[in-house]
Amino acid sequence: MKKIAIIGSGAYGSYAASLIGDLHPDWGIHIYEVGGKEIKNQDEIGLWSELLSNPYDALTKGRYFGFGGATAKWGGQILTFSKNDFANPSNFLKEIIALNEKYRQNIFRKVGIENNYPEKRIANGLFTKTGVWLDYFSRNLFKKFKVEKYPNIHLHPHCRVIKINTEEKNVVSFDYIENGEKKNADGYDFYVLSAGAFETTRLMMVSGLQDHTCVGFSDHIAKKVFRIYDTTKIGDVDMQFKIKKASFITTRLIGEKNGCSFFAYPSFNAEFPFFQNLKKLLFGKKFSFKIIGAIIRDIPSCMAFAWSFFVKHKLYVYKNAWFLVLHMENDFGYGKVYLSKHLDKFNQQGLAIDFSIPEHSERSFNEISNELEQMLKDNHIRYTRVTEKIHTEKFEDEYHPFALYSDFKSVDDYFNTFNNMLVIHSGVLPRAGGINSTSAAFPLIEEFFRERYK
Ligand SMILES: Cc1cc2nc3c(=O)[nH]c(=O)nc-3n(C[C@H](O)[C@H](O)[C@H](O)COP(=O)(O)OP(=O)(O)OC[C@H]3O[C@@H](n4cnc5c(N)ncnc54)[C@H](O)[C@@H]3O)c2cc1C
Repeated sequence: MKKIAIIGSGAYGSYAASLIGDLHPDWGIHIYEVGGKEIKNQDEIGLWSELLSNPYDALTKGRYFGFGGATAKWGGQILTFSKNDFANPSNFLKEIIALNEKYRQNIFRKVGIENNYPEKRIANGLFTKTGVWLDYFSRNLFKKFKVEKYPNIHLHPHCRVIKINTEEKNVVSFDYIENGEKKNADGYDFYVLSAGAFETTRLMMVSGLQDHTCVGFSDHIAKKVFRIYDTTKIGDVDMQFKIKKASFITTRLIGEKNGCSFFAYPSFNAEFPFFQNLKKLLFGKKFSFKIIGAIIRDIPSCMAFAWSFFVKHKLYVYKNAWFLVLHMENDFGYGKVYLSKHLDKFNQQGLAIDFSIPEHSERSFNEISNELEQMLKDNHIRYTRVTEKIHTEKFEDEYHPFALYSDFKSVDDYFNTFNNMLVIHSGVLPRAGGINSTSAAFPLIEEFFRERYK
């Protein structure tokens, strides 16, 4: 019987806890979590981050704390890598792709939706990939994997881990703050460090396990490029979402330009006022006849929405118009993480983030937009071009920081960095590719606890 400590109960902490719980019902699994049942953002929990240059909202708007972490608020898009994703992957990435192919079905089984749709190569070096977008009400993975129900999982809420103590390649203990009091936890056989990409990096920096001064990273940049009318089809590819068990089955087009992956992905119903108005009425502070009127006027569209959802099992497309959004990996070398001088509520150093979009990334982005435009013309699709700046201020399916902790020769090299700790977050992936990439790192947990640590 082994004793495991998991630090953080977001996507990876929840995945690891439930997998170990299934494989080893006799092991003791202890989750140390800075939050509790109530999900809080960075300010509410009392952590600190500052931006040194351009807007990059992933820390202020994309970090959530408590059981489930960011998955309590995320889009919930589940996708994995295949051999189609990268023309020249590093050896480490090639091995991650092999593990994605090995464990792909385990992941979809775990979230309860099948995904057997094959990828298809189409024109211009692009290929299609099908993903699952989890239904709105069951996206929190801590709840979805029923972590709390495992008799051998023990929760330690409101414990902020502040330092990992090591001797050579062994973790000997970690320090944490509970109720304002500094404590130390030791005696575990194994540790999983899964406190989110940025907080894990911060912990590694202050613990002397990653460069103390600066750690590089990158992320996707995005922009709505076209408004498309009359059809959801581009050539043979239908971008309209299908519905399976209240989740969406989504399609995207993926490609690579100058060594950076990109994906073109639809945004439907961004201009459908019914849901926005209903939200305003239910959660806004004022009752308004104007809002009620707008809701009533929208009822026919709503009925069409419901008909499409429940009868046709397809997502309704408001006014038959939608946006094609282009997402691209920003080139590596333009994102940097530093320790800030500013102390957070727990008296710990915060983070300072530098993120910029270089001219050559912007140029690639515009070249891809032009190629997509040609594709729309070739397929006789009616569209208008959208004038929006390339940005990192994302909507619900976003924030995929990568390459924070990925400088490994192989998966073995990564697994063997510590004798008794696995560090896991999306930044372990050297690339985010053309997907919402969280699930692409789950196979590392699968492989580790199924094959390496038994
Ligand atoms: C709006 C939004 C939409 C997104 N949509 C998608 C999507 O559709 N698909 C996709 O693949 N990805 C998406 N993402 C990204 C995805 O949410 C993250 O990649 C994923 O949640 C990261 O998992 P994690 O376990 O590394 O971190 P988190 O989920 O952030 O979990 C970290 C956990 O650690 C805890 N913690 C933090 N610090 C400490 C500490 N010092 N001590 C103890 N506990 C600590 C936190 O409370 C939290 O529970 C989205 C993100 C956002 C913000």
